[in-house]
Amino acid sequence: MANYDYDLFVIGAGSGGVRAARTAAATGARVAVAEDRYLGGTCVNVGCVPKKLYSYAAHFHDAFEDSRGFGWTIPEAPQFDWATLRDNKIEEIKRLNGIYGRLLDGAGVKLINGRAKVVDTNAVEVNGERITAEKILVAVGGWPWTPEFEGSELTVNSNQVFDLDSFPRRFLVLGGGYIAVEFASIFNGLGADTHLIYRGELFLRGFDQEVREFTRDEMAKKGVNLHFETNIERIRRVEGGLEVTLTNGERLEVDAVLAATGRRPHLEGLGLEALGVQLDTDGTLKVNERFESSVPSILALGDVTGGPELTPVALAEAMHLVQHHFGDKTPPPLDYENIATAVFCHPNIGTVGLSEEEARARFDAIRVYSADFRPMKHTLSGSDERCLMKLVVDDASDRVVGAHMVGDEAGETIQGIAIAVRARLTKADFDATVGIHPTAAEEFVTMRSVTRR
Ligand SMILES: Cc1cc2nc3c(=O)[nH]c(=O)nc-3n(C[C@H](O)[C@H](O)[C@H](O)COP(=O)(O)OP(=O)(O)OC[C@H]3O[C@@H](n4cnc5c(N)ncnc54)[C@H](O)[C@@H]3O)c2cc1C
Repeated sequence: MANYDYDLFVIGAGSGGVRAARTAAATGARVAVAEDRYLGGTCVNVGCVPKKLYSYAAHFHDAFEDSRGFGWTIPEAPQFDWATLRDNKIEEIKRLNGIYGRLLDGAGVKLINGRAKVVDTNAVEVNGERITAEKILVAVGGWPWTPEFEGSELTVNSNQVFDLDSFPRRFLVLGGGYIAVEFASIFNGLGADTHLIYRGELFLRGFDQEVREFTRDEMAKKGVNLHFETNIERIRRVEGGLEVTLTNGERLEVDAVLAATGRRPHLEGLGLEALGVQLDTDGTLKVNERFESSVPSILALGDVTGGPELTPVALAEAMHLVQHHFGDKTPPPLDYENIATAVFCHPNIGTVGLSEEEARARFDAIRVYSADFRPMKHTLSGSDERCLMKLVVDDASDRVVGAHMVGDEAGETIQGIAIAVRARLTKADFDATVGIHPTAAEEFVTMRSVTRR
């Protein structure tokens, strides 16, 4: 048997890489991980964590407004200071980076700071040193992608937007995915005059249509300027800002433009082409159920492969991968159905399972139960924010195959519902569940009349 330096060499200390490294080391494997930017990867540094912190910051805007109806007077208009938020965020992330470092250290994983390149089926090169391993795990994640147009170099991407030097009083987001929608809500909530530009007819493609429309209306009510079916033609620097010309002829003057136009696998310069490692048509790394690429000693997981680009998916893949390659029994294939997700726009979206449209295509007959109501909190707050809750049921089996919510803390609510949907519970099970009163979530167990068939 060949004598390798390590049993597993992980490239990338992000969500998936760190989990795989630690879990493999716990089985007694000799593991090293290379990281060239920041411990914790996208999620900790420029993704989920800072995004959620900024989303909390933006929610205060509504909270100050809402408090009046409950008897509070705020003597002076609250002021928002971008530098405080940004710098406190930087400190928190430094703390998390430290925790990740200590987790790896405590697990006995060797951390190498540097950019790794795969130079052979069982060898990598980092900082000029060749290191061999029985298995190499490519956990390099993705990288923001911006289309080219006149002035596209004047945009910032999602890696940069968290650390802008000054707060953009006039902000424009290009894109229609969840990241675009979230940043539009965040900057709007923080007080920027915010525009979202999307070339399609409506943002959040792939989500339930009613959820998309409801979110559009709620975001517009909160003051986000939504421009659909148009694109950026050019951006020019002008006195005091950026002039953005849209393909529909409209012109906007703003202080910053965020291009949230998608992410691509971070494979450049990694050396995989030379080894003939196969890619899928979308440029992601093709892997089998055991997370092996077309070169079996080279494994991959997370955003660099074609699955849902979510941290909990990368973590689940890491646990599966380790069971396959370092465990004593073969796990069942990872189930990618019914993965719950949230979009932290304002109000939030929480969703699990099939959209109404997907369910119609998959089943002969479905029932839809929905509630569109003014949450109790807003009886006194005076806010006109509404909440949408929706269950999609397969008529033949009575199984709840989709649950969707747009409203306060929708992610928190849907996480619990996701267990029921994954456990294949029926509408009768939902109906038999006694609600928690007074909550918005109790609607999920009290919707009795069919909205549509
Ligand atoms: C703005 C934004 C918001 C998001 N919000 C959410 C959310 O709310 N919920 C959620 O579940 N997911 C969210 N995500 C997605 C989530 O961050 C990713 O799905 C997750 O981080 C993927 O993990 P990963 O291990 O595949 O890669 P990553 O976490 O991206 O880690 C890859 C690591 O590899 C390193 N690396 C790359 N190439 C090399 C090399 N050659 N040598 C050494 N190191 C290398 C990188 O520096 C990076 O640290 C968000 C993403 C973005 C961009």
